[in-house]
Parts: sequence; C-alpha cells; structure tokens
Amino acid sequence: MRRDVFSAEHELFRDQFRRFAEREVVPRIEGWDARGMSDRATWKRMGEEGFLGAHAPAEYGGAGQDFLYDAIVIEELADLRAHALMMYLHSDICMPYLVRYGSVEQKRRYLPGAIAGDVLLGIAMTEPGTGSDLAAVQTRARREGDFYVLDGSKMFISNGQIGDLFIVVARTDPDAQPAHRGISLLLVEAATQGFVRGRKLDKLGLRGQDTSELFFEGCRVPVANLLGHEGEGFRMLMEQLQQERLCIAVGSVASSRRSLEDTIAYVKQRRAFGRTVASFQNTQFKLAELATEVEVGRSFVDRLLAAHVRGDEIVAEVSMAKWWTTDLQKRLTAECVQLHGGYGFMREYPIATDFADAAVQSIYAGTNEIMKVIIARQLGLE
Ligand SMILES: Cc1cc2nc3c(=O)[nH]c(=O)nc-3n(C[C@H](O)[C@H](O)[C@H](O)COP(=O)(O)OP(=O)(O)OC[C@H]3O[C@@H](n4cnc5c(N)ncnc54)[C@H](O)[C@@H]3O)c2cc1C
Repeated sequence: MRRDVFSAEHELFRDQFRRFAEREVVPRIEGWDARGMSDRATWKRMGEEGFLGAHAPAEYGGAGQDFLYDAIVIEELADLRAHALMMYLHSDICMPYLVRYGSVEQKRRYLPGAIAGDVLLGIAMTEPGTGSDLAAVQTRARREGDFYVLDGSKMFISNGQIGDLFIVVARTDPDAQPAHRGISLLLVEAATQGFVRGRKLDKLGLRGQDTSELFFEGCRVPVANLLGHEGEGFRMLMEQLQQERLCIAVGSVASSRRSLEDTIAYVKQRRAFGRTVASFQNTQFKLAELATEVEVGRSFVDRLLAAHVRGDEIVAEVSMAKWWTTDLQKRLTAECVQLHGGYGFMREYPIATDFADAAVQSIYAGTNEIMKVIIARQLGLE
C-alpha cells in the first residue's frame, strides 16, 4: 500500500541514503558485529553526507529538515540490519537535548561536531541499581566553585566505547522532595579526568553495539556544562521520550518487515514431504496473520509520524506503538525461526540474529510494562 506520510522529496532522500548505505555501511556490518562496535570513519562519512542531525538548525551545520528524514534512515538501517550504527541515538535522542535546551555556547561547542560525525553522543540514565525508576538515580553531582564533581556509575550505555560526549543524569540535590526535582543533566566529555569507560558488555543480541558501563570518579565537569537549570533534568527527559520511543517503533516495524520478507522467500524454496514449506496451510496462515499485523503496525506508526512532525503531543499513543510493535517483533521473529526449522537456529541465517536482536526492543527506551503504566495513567487509572 502506498504510504502517505512521505513526500516525493523524502523518497528521493530514501534512494540516496539507501545507495550510500549499501555502498558504505553494508560491507562493514559483519566486522562491527564481530568487534562489538561500529567505526568512527563511517560515522564521519554519515556526517559528511548530511545524514546526521538533518533536523538541526542550519546555523550549526544542520539542514533544518523534519523528523521524517531521520525516520527514513532508521527504516533503511533496520532493513539492512545495520544495528551497530545507532544513528537515532546520536541524532534523534541525544542531539535534540542540545538543540532544545543547550545554551548558545554549548550549541556552538558541540553541535557542529555532532552533525559532522566528529563528536559522537550518548545518554547515561540507567545505573546498576535503577533503570525504570529513573527518579532513583544515585550518581551524585556536587557543586564545587565553577565545577560539578561527579561520582557514580552507569549501566547499559549505548555508544559507551565510541562516544565522545554523554548527557549524564545526576542528582544535584539529594534532599529534593519529590526526588525527581533534584535531578539535573550534565554534558560530560569523555576526555574529562575521572570519566572512566568500563566493560563493553557481552549481550544476547545487537552484538555490534558497544553497550557499556561508565564510571565517574571525582569527575570535574564545568558548571557551564549544565544543560538547562538545576533540578530540571527529569522534566527534560520526559519531554524528549516521545521521539525516542517513536524511533523504536519505526525501527521495529521495519525490522519485522525484513524478517517477514526473508521468511517468505525461505519457505518458498524449502521443501518437505515433496512440496514447499510455503504450500502448507499452517505456513500460509501464520505468515498471513503476521503480514496483517505488520501492516496494521505500520499504518499506526505512519499516523504517529505525521502527528509528531505536526508537533502534536502523542505521549500515550507513542507508548502504545512502542509496546505493540516491539511485542509483535518478538512474536514475529519467534514464528519466523520456527518456519525456518533447524536453520532458523543457526547464526548464519539472519533470522536467528533477528530473533536475538528483537529481545531487547521491549526492554530499552522504557520497558513495555512502563509503556502500559503511562497509557493507564492517561486513561485516568492511578
Ligand atoms: C542493549 C541496551 C542498550 C541500552 N542503552 C541505554 C542507554 O544508551 N542509556 C541508558 O541510560 N540506558 C540504556 N539501556 C538501559 C535500559 O533503558 C534499561 O535496561 C531499561 O530502562 C530497564 O531498566 P532495568 O534494566 O533497570 O530494569 P528494571 O527497572 O529493574 O525492570 C525489571 C522488570 O521490572 C519491570 N518493572 C519495573 N517497574 C515496573 C512498574 N512500575 N510496573 C510494572 N513493572 C515494572 C520492568 O518492566 C522489567 O520487566 C540499555 C539497555 C540495553 C539492554
């Protein structure tokens, strides 16, 4: 079905990005997955071609384009299984904090490098002891003259090894009531003394992503690197989550489509009992059902994309899309593994890694249970 959300210019951009990705991204995916991280040269090329922070203001090197351009990049990278290159984390999750809340000085210092692919971004919210309950973070930022002294540890941080600048969620007021009012965001350069990269974590899926521990040991961050004002961190985080979760839903639908298409191709050529696996009614019904759900998911996500670009507040609807599309992706990849038989369990078949990669989609960017908490709250159920 033709999609209404993208214009002819968007589709031209898709073709242009696809050609770039097939030439410069695809040949590197295997190496990234083996090494557990992407490479700076590719990020740099993404920047040179204008594929990073296309939405950012032109005065800092962006193109002032709408989010749909980034949605296209998310879809194409998901379709190509280039999960190591977590473009949306850099461009659509982290960069908007700088654009929206950064001082002129902070924007001048960091945005041009981020857009060019020289300064890679990450966000450090989660800690070993707390993830969903963000207001309970323990990382402490004590004010000492013109510096904050940062102490604490962070867990599961994407771009943890390759990143140059992290938005760190820290407690500036340990006595604040309620606790979330004591939370602030600090821009921490990886080169700062006392910033320590920990282990690159060994994961079930997304093996090309450098999800890591980070430690702050008396890390002195200039007061000028406070984002917004003290105590406003939690509010800023809540404001930015709509786009983060929309990115996941967009990627999830695109990944599901790829898994489905590959499975359809597989069952058409695999034979059992003298006929193709595709000819069994069970196979046809399963794939018909999954194709229906993917189409329903995509229609919903396309509507949300249009609403998001218009500037509508769609927190509840985006939460619905996040849990529903990622649950679908998990069910879909499990069914597709089954339809591949034993080959579906072999890493050399992409469906096996699709299955492993899908597992995290319902966990990060707010777990699917937290999505339902948000929806229930919007329904007036407290
Ligand atoms: C690959 C990967 C990349 C990540 N990247 C980043 C990153 O870049 N930056 C970052 O800050 N974090 C990142 N995370 C962390 C991620 O956001 C957290 O794992 C997630 O928010 C869940 O937190 P948790 O792991 O502490 O689980 P917990 O909060 O301990 O949750 C455990 C279980 O309890 C459930 N639960 C918790 N509270 C409730 C409730 N109120 N009602 C019902 N059920 C509840 C959860 O849904 C979950 O099922 C990443 C994680 C992974 C795995």
